[in-house]
Amino acid sequence: METYTIPLAPGPVSIPAAVRAAYGVDYGSADLEEEFFALYRRCEAGLREMLATANDIAILSGEGMLALWSAMKSVLRPGDRVVAVATGVFGDGFADMARQLGAQVETVDFGYDEVLDAGRVAEVVRRVRPRLVTVVHCETPSGTLNPLAEVGAVCREVDALYYVDFVASAGGTPVLVDAWGIDLGLLGSQKVLSLMPDLCMVSISARAWEAIAEVGYVGYDALAPWRTAVADRYLPYTHNWHALAGLAVALDSLAAEGLQAVYDRHATVAALCRRRVRELGLALWPRDEAACSPTVTAVRVPDGVTWAALDRCLRERGMVVGGSYGPLAGKVFRIGHMGSQADVALVEQGMATLGDVLATIRA
Ligand SMILES: *Cc1c(COP(=O)(O)O)cnc(C)c1O
Repeated sequence: METYTIPLAPGPVSIPAAVRAAYGVDYGSADLEEEFFALYRRCEAGLREMLATANDIAILSGEGMLALWSAMKSVLRPGDRVVAVATGVFGDGFADMARQLGAQVETVDFGYDEVLDAGRVAEVVRRVRPRLVTVVHCETPSGTLNPLAEVGAVCREVDALYYVDFVASAGGTPVLVDAWGIDLGLLGSQKVLSLMPDLCMVSISARAWEAIAEVGYVGYDALAPWRTAVADRYLPYTHNWHALAGLAVALDSLAAEGLQAVYDRHATVAALCRRRVRELGLALWPRDEAACSPTVTAVRVPDGVTWAALDRCLRERGMVVGGSYGPLAGKVFRIGHMGSQADVALVEQGMATLGDVLATIRA
């Protein structure tokens, strides 16, 4: 397989050596179970710190999509009302998921190149009075970052659960679960945390636990068992030592650098990337630069160039970026500067390579 020396895809991102080393360790057998639970508690504490929350955090085996489905299936019943805020592919995806579960869904639609307007969302939420409101923090396919606090306050007002996908933002920019009133917060391992795609995490508020108990959903992906799993020393399935050991390495490294320094690093790298985009005569996809996420930059594929040709030429030079999805496929490409890839030297090198490739294609 090709190895890319300039990894800039917006997930899965490149995995640091210390994390890979954690997978090489033999963690032994059931004798070590107390140690496993200590490791779990340590990871939970690190995640609470990162997410500014006192809520429980379930750490499930399986990648990001598992968090999205398990949280939704655990609190929704057919006929429940849902408001889905759609500023991109994932936002619309949540509306589809809820419909597939038999919910009555109203979407609040925005352009895929803009962020939500809290006033418009509030109007719909107050009228519909839903059980669940879904929002995506970083719309990865669009490279945008939605504001979250005001919608959280409206959810409280109408007693709706606030379901937020921060898969591609948490750890790279502040996510304040408690201050923003997030009831179900969804995170994956292979984006900012720079781990293998084998874990996902769900922060669960007291209100969300009540809803989970009321619904009584059972299944491999059910959240209910996680309420007591660690206290009872009884997980719903086999302990994932290796993945949790990798997660502990990632969380220790965040703590050692300091969360604020990590956020500053992401902001610096993102600003650099956007500046280089402009210098290359390219256009950002988000309508307003203030809407751009500090973890991923979405760029319009320039006229006269196809995404397929751009992708091929970049790969020939050892660089990999992301295309986009749905209505943005072929029109937008994305530079992922999250986690291990939020690195000034790496992004400088990537943007220089992109400049060379564009000059060659255009010549
Ligand atoms: C990547 C991503 C997911 C899904 O995670 P996977 O691990 O790729 O399944 C969900 N939401 C957002 C916003 C993402 O960027």
